[in-house]
Formats: sequence, structure tokens, C-alpha cells
Amino acid sequence: MKKKTIQNQFIRDNFIEKIENTSEIWDIIIIGGGATGLGVALDAASRGFRTLLLELADFSSGTSSRSTKLAHGGVRYLAQGNLSLVNEALFERGLMLKNAPHLVRMLPFIIPGYRWWEKYFFGIGLKIYDWMARKLRVGKTVLLSSQEVKNFMPNLRSKGLKGGVLYFDGQFDDSRLAINIAQTCAEKGGVLINYMKVKSFRKNKEGLICGVCVEDTINGKEYSLDSKVVVNATGVFTDDILEMNSAIKSSLVKASQGIHLVVNKSFFKGNHALMIPSTSDGRVLFALPWHGHLLVGTTDTPMEHHSLEPVALESEISFVLKNLSVYLDRKLTRKDVLSVFAGLRPLVTPSKEKGTKEISRDHKLMTSTSQLITITGGKWTTYRRMAEDTINEAIKIGALEDRKCRTTNLKIHGYLKPKKQYNHFDIYGSDARKIKDLAAKKPLWNEKLHPEFPNIKAEVVWIVRNEMALTIEDVLGRRLRILFINAKAAIEMAPEVVVLMAEELKMDSIWQTQQLQKFISTAQNYLTEPYFPTLKNLDISKTTNPKLKI
Ligand code: FAD
Repeated sequence: MKKKTIQNQFIRDNFIEKIENTSEIWDIIIIGGGATGLGVALDAASRGFRTLLLELADFSSGTSSRSTKLAHGGVRYLAQGNLSLVNEALFERGLMLKNAPHLVRMLPFIIPGYRWWEKYFFGIGLKIYDWMARKLRVGKTVLLSSQEVKNFMPNLRSKGLKGGVLYFDGQFDDSRLAINIAQTCAEKGGVLINYMKVKSFRKNKEGLICGVCVEDTINGKEYSLDSKVVVNATGVFTDDILEMNSAIKSSLVKASQGIHLVVNKSFFKGNHALMIPSTSDGRVLFALPWHGHLLVGTTDTPMEHHSLEPVALESEISFVLKNLSVYLDRKLTRKDVLSVFAGLRPLVTPSKEKGTKEISRDHKLMTSTSQLITITGGKWTTYRRMAEDTINEAIKIGALEDRKCRTTNLKIHGYLKPKKQYNHFDIYGSDARKIKDLAAKKPLWNEKLHPEFPNIKAEVVWIVRNEMALTIEDVLGRRLRILFINAKAAIEMAPEVVVLMAEELKMDSIWQTQQLQKFISTAQNYLTEPYFPTLKNLDISKTTNPKLKI
């Protein structure tokens, strides 16, 4: 008889209760709540396994909120001849579009050509790209005249333009998708807890892993949890977890930093994305329309150290500004940057040292002698496939019942076919209606958070109640995306947001003050000039909560 799935509400306190009140052994514990870990948790829960995911900070607060947001096969990897990677990613791109249409959409790209042969060269490559996607193709590649390119991209430099190529790829909202994957996992019976750090492994007499010891970083409470299988899905932190397992120095993953800048959309009007196939150092640069702004990136800088809050280097900012300006009719400067963010790619290292551009972008799945399963590398686009491989391995390692993967046709939470006209509520998919209902309940919740943004207060209330946001950064960074779009505006919204959060979470004014200070300090990393507004600028006097004082 088919087992009935018990849906879990996506509420942290309920999840904590589940780990406190269970003496049962989990089938699978996953360390890391980025794209990789969340994908693994969803795959496991949807196959009916008792699944627990533990994330040190917020879901997707690592690399998975800091990507270029392309659901793509990787035109660059095609040029490198890595056909199997492109093939796999194109298939996954199609599934993302099919299963999460509220967050993943088809985007037209243009590669401008300034030498006569370029449009034919790229055109042939992109026709192959289309052909490789087969039934899951998202649009047809077309060669363009210089006038057609200018019609699509009025701000593109005209001098020397010989034509271009129009092709199609996928674009998505990374951290929104991460939250929706987590919610889908909960609906399949999975338990997911953010702000929960894995500190050590539990091992049996044979030295095999049988659980983890964790700390709730909100209140310091510790737990010891049993599991048949433990999966390490910690991105650039992979080696730290491997060293926790065996005390031998590990160097499986090398971090490569990539940054993005967000500027006003007026620099590049139109609905098409620009793809620059070769920058001054031979890399690819994108300029993409994103939430009514222009997202530009990225870089590929080898890093010796990794952290949860990487910061863009001055040299990276100059590189992006300089390389995009070459293609614009107007020069971009630091002053035009509304937000800058950095992310660290977890690249799997080969035995010999290489520049990060050449290191493998494929994923790596391995099982240690202690039976710890590690999954790393890959791309956001391939998260589902990485998860499928991981759970197939977990079934063998944990002697679990052999159940088939169910994620190929699994609709992601919020599933809704988008309307043609863009609306900022679209990112919530089917939840948008419920947020509007909430706003109708209290006139205050219908108010905007900031004059330059359409977001309303009801969204914050919804996010705290239903999306497990615990800090201002969770709300403004990964749920509303404002920190990534305009860091100054995010700072200006913070006092209103913290009041709404405090009411929902029943927090006092000390908590509010600490939250504001921490957020304003973190937000400096997203700015090219420091912005520490005084209390007056923050307009705390006008917030609806008289208790707020700093
Ligand atoms: P992460 O997202 O970093 O997640 C790992 C998590 O593990 C973190 O949240 C961390 O807090 C947690 N963790 C660490 N230690 C512990 C512990 N002790 N206990 C509990 N939790 C722990 N891919 C695409 O498909 N398309 C793109 O356009 C694209 N663009 C990119 C651009 C840039 C600049 C970068 C850097 C990457 C890009 N990628 C892209 C790749 C993609 O973003 C990554 O492959 C993916 O996000 C990696 O996810 P992850 O879950 O492995 O790592």
C-alpha cells in the first residue's frame, strides 16, 4: 500500500520540536542548505525517506544566492568542448522551466559582433546548443544585422558593429528558488532547519558515521542526532567537513570568486540580455535585465580563503565596469553601482594545479571510508541531477529501500504559469494571492516599504510567517532581493522591516537594535561607498512602532 506523506508546515519551531521529540533514526541527514543540499533533501523526502537538512546560516546564504541566475547549458562549456556537461545542463534547464515556471523564464540574449565572421562563428555554435536541447529547446537562434541588433539594444556601441546573434537561455531567481525547494521538501515530509551548525560527527565502534552533533546558533542549544546516512553538501566548506570527518588535510574544492554589479536599467534599455563572449582576459560577461534593473557579471578570481560573506575586490569591480563600458554608449562608473555582491564557486580540483577557469565545472560525488557522502561542484542548473545521483548512492550506503527518483516531474512550491506582464508579486507564484489577501486585512500592511520599490509590508509579514526568515538580511537579501538590487534602499527599508519582524517574532527593542546594527554593517559589503545613515536619515521616528529606539 502507498504510504501517505505527512506534509510539514514550513515553521522553524515545529521543526525544532521534531528533532527534540524524536528518538527515531533519520534515514538521511544533509549538511548544507544551498542549492545542492536542498536538492538532495527534496529528492530524499520525495522518495519517502525520513529527511533532515541542517544549515549553518540561512538557506542559500552561501553561493546559492550569489549566482548569475542563469538556468543554462553553458555556452562557454560548449566552446570548451565539454558536451556531456552542456547536454546534462540543457536537459535540467528544461525541467527547471517546466517545474518552477514562476521563477524560471526564457530570456533572449544577444551576442554583438564587431568582426565580420563573429556572428557566423557564434551562430553555428548556438545552433548546435539549440539542437542539443532537443525537445526542451527554449527558442530558436537567429543571425541579426547590425540594425536589428541596435533595434533590440539601443544603448549598444554602434561604432564597428557588424551584426549579432540572438539566442535563448533560462533565467531564474536563485534564492527564491532555494526557499521554494525547501518548502516543497517540507510538503513531502522533510525537516529543514536554518541557523543550525553541524559541529562534529557521531561514529560507531567500526568508525562509521551514524549521526551528527549540532548547535542551534540562535540560542546555543545542542543536539545529538542519529542517521543511517549523512551527506556533506557544503559547497566551498566541503573540505572543512571532510577534515571534521577524518582529521586529514583535504583539498577537494578550490574557491573561485565571482562578483556581480547591479545598475540602473536606463544604462541598457530593452528586454534582451547582452552576452560578451570574450572580455579583456578571455572570460564571458553578461548584462541581464533582473527585477527592473541591470545585473552585470561575473569574474573568476582564485581565492585562498572562503567565508560566508565574501567581499568584491576593487580589481573585480573595475574589471566589470571597464569591460561593460566598452559595449555601451555611456561610461559606467563606481557611482552608478547600486549593489555589488560576491560569491564563491566550489570548483573540484584536479590533481595538478590549474587556473580556476580550467578547473572542472562538473560535480563530484564521493563516499569516504567512514561512509560520509560528499557532493560538490556542479552548477545551480544541475542541482536536481546532482541530488538524484546522491540519493542513489545513499540508498546503497545506508541499505535503504530502493525507491526511484521522483523529481523529474515534481512541481516546485508556488508553481504557477506566469502572466506576460511583469509584476513584482510574480516571484511568489501561487502564494501571491495569499499575500494580497493578507494586505487586505490591515491597511498598514498595504503600505510600501520604500518609495522607489513596489514591495509592501504584507510581504514581510508573509515571509516571516511562511518562509522561515529570522533576520533582516533573510528578508531583504534572500526573500525580497532588495539588498542585491539596491543596498542603500535596503538600508533605508531596514527600520520598517525590523519593526514588522519584531511584532511577528515577539522580539524586544534590544533585538531590533542589534538586528539593525548587524544589517547596516553587512550591507556595507554591497556598496561601493560606505553608507551609515544617521537615525534621522533612517527615519526611525516615523516607524509605526514607538518602542524602536537605538
Ligand atoms: P552553497 O550555496 O555555498 O551552500 C553550502 C551551504 O553549506 C552554505 O549555505 C553553508 O552555510 C552551509 N554549511 C557550511 N558548513 C556548514 C555546517 N558546519 N553546518 C551546516 N551547514 C553548513 N550556476 C548556474 O547554474 N548558473 C549560473 O548562472 C551560475 N552563476 C554563478 C556565478 C557565480 C559568481 C558563482 C560563484 C557561481 C555560479 N553558479 C551558477 C554556480 C552555483 O551558484 C553553485 O554551483 C551553487 O550555488 C553551489 O551550491 P552549494 O549548495 O553547493 O553551495
